[in-house]
Amino acid sequence: MPPVPTKGKIAMSYAEVAGVRVDTRHWIGGERVASAGTFESVSPIDGTVLAHVARGGRVEADAAVAAARAAFPAWARLTPVERGEILHRVADNVEAHIEELAQLETADNGSLLRSHRRGVMPRVVLNLRFFADYAINELSHPVFETRGHENHVSWDPSGVAVIITPWNAPLMLATWRIGPALASGDTVVAKPPEWAPLTASYFAQLAHEAGLPAGVFNVVQGLGTEAGAALTANPDVSRICFTGSVPTAKVIAHAAADNLTPCSFELGGKSPTVILDDADLDLAVDLAIEQYDNAGQVCLAGTRLLVQEGIADAFTERFRARAATIRQGDPRDEDTQIGPNIHLRHVERVLGFVDRAKADGATVVYGGEVNDDLGPHYLRPTLIADAPAGSEILTQEVFGPVLTMQTFSTDDEGLALANGTEFGLAACVVTGSRERAEAFTRHLVAGTIWVNCFFVRDLAAPFGGSRRSGIGREGGVWSFDFYADVKNTVYAPNGWRE
Ligand code: NAD
Repeated sequence: MPPVPTKGKIAMSYAEVAGVRVDTRHWIGGERVASAGTFESVSPIDGTVLAHVARGGRVEADAAVAAARAAFPAWARLTPVERGEILHRVADNVEAHIEELAQLETADNGSLLRSHRRGVMPRVVLNLRFFADYAINELSHPVFETRGHENHVSWDPSGVAVIITPWNAPLMLATWRIGPALASGDTVVAKPPEWAPLTASYFAQLAHEAGLPAGVFNVVQGLGTEAGAALTANPDVSRICFTGSVPTAKVIAHAAADNLTPCSFELGGKSPTVILDDADLDLAVDLAIEQYDNAGQVCLAGTRLLVQEGIADAFTERFRARAATIRQGDPRDEDTQIGPNIHLRHVERVLGFVDRAKADGATVVYGGEVNDDLGPHYLRPTLIADAPAGSEILTQEVFGPVLTMQTFSTDDEGLALANGTEFGLAACVVTGSRERAEAFTRHLVAGTIWVNCFFVRDLAAPFGGSRRSGIGREGGVWSFDFYADVKNTVYAPNGWRE
C-alpha cells in the first residue's frame, strides 16, 4: 500500500464513545491512516462532540482504491466457499460485539438503542451471512444450448466497489452492500456518512480481527464533496453503490460518466400510505404511526397518508389519539418510541418545510415544532393536512417526522394521487379486499409495495426505486448482477482432442 502523506497537526487517533473505544483514523490497506484535517462527529442526543474524525480527500481516496486494487486478485481467486468462511467469521465477530455497535450507533445517529440491539445490528450480521451463503448455494450458473453449443453463465468478481452511504442507518445500509460485494469477490472502499461515521471504523476493526485480509475492505472518512467526490472520480473503481439523496446522485452520475463506472443508486422517496375505506382502521392507524419510526428518517417511509373519504374523519380522530401517546425521548431509554433528528441543520431544514407548508395554506393537525422539553434536536411528530395540490410538502422528500394527509373519493383518484410524485421507492396499501389490493399493486409505480404491512424485507427480494428513487435493484441475485461481471462462455461441440 503506498504511504499516505500527512501534513500539519495530526489529531487524536481514537475516541471513547458510550464506553466503546473507536479509532477515528481511516482504515486503508490493513493500517490505520491519519489525515491532517478532521471533522466533528456530534451526538444528536444532546449535541455533545463525540469525536474528531480523520477527514480524507483525494490522497486518502486514491490510496484506499490502490490498496483495494492490490488486494483484489487474491480475494477474487478464492472460491465462494473460502470467501464465505471468512465472511462468516467476520459476522461472528460482529455478533459478539452487537452491544458495542448498538451503543456507538445510537450515540452517533440518535436512532433507538433497543432497535439497534434487537433489529438493526442482528440484520448487519445477516447481511454478511446471507450473501456469503447466497454466493455458495443459490447463485445458479445456468447452462443453455444454442445449435449444439453450450452457453455457461458465471458471475465473476469485477474489481473495486466504492460504497457510499447516508447517516439514517449507517452500518445496516453499508453492510447490505459490503456483504454482496465481498461475497462476489470484489474488494471494497466504504465512505461512511460524515454525520455518523463511527460504526464503519469499528466494523473495520472487527473484520480485521476476524481475518479479513488487508486491503479487501477499506474505510475512507470525510465529507462527500471531498472524500466521496474523489472516490467516485477514480478510474480504478469498477462499481459505485450510492445510497443517499437525488441531488448527490446527479453529481455522482456526472463523476462516474467520465470513466463509465456502473452505478447503483438507492435514493429518496415520497411514498404513499393508501388507506381504503374497507381497511381495518386500527391496523391503518398502526401502519400510519409506524411511518414516524427513526424520527421519520427512513427512505421508505410512507409519509403521504392518502385516506378514502368515507373513513377520513374516523381515521383522523384515531390517529390524533394514537399520536398523542407516542413517547418521545432519549433514544437510549427502553420505552422511547421516537428520538432526536440527526443534526441541527437538518432540524432547520425540516422546520423550513413545515413553515412553508403553513404559508401555502396547509393546516398543522399535530406537532409542527421542536419539543423544547427534550432539546433542539427533537422534532415533535407532525401531521399536516389541507396542503394545496402540487405544493412542496406533498411532493418533496422531508426526511423528518412529518406526515401529510390527503383524501380521495374513488380508487382511481387514490391511485393517481399515490403515483403523483417524481419518486417511486415504496408504497403501502391498507384494505380488506384482496381484489382492490391487487388492482392497486398492478398500477402503483414503486420498487416495493406492502399490503397491510410495512417494512417486511427479505434479503433475497429485489430492492430499489423507480423514477427518481433510484437506478437498479439489489438483493438476492440482483446484488450479484450489479457487483459481479456477468459472463457468458460458449463451448463448441467439436474441436476437442481427447
Ligand atoms: P446525501 O446525498 O447528502 O449523502 C449521502 C452520502 O453521500 C454521504 O456519505 C455523503 O458524504 C456522500 N456525498 C455527498 N456529496 C457527495 C459527492 N459529491 N460525491 C460523493 N459522495 C457524496 O444524503 P443524506 O442526507 O446523507 O441521506 C438522506 C438521503 O438518503 C435521503 O434522500 C434518503 O431518502 C436517502 N436514503 C435512501 C435509501 C434507499 O435505500 N433508497 C436508504 C437510506 C437513505
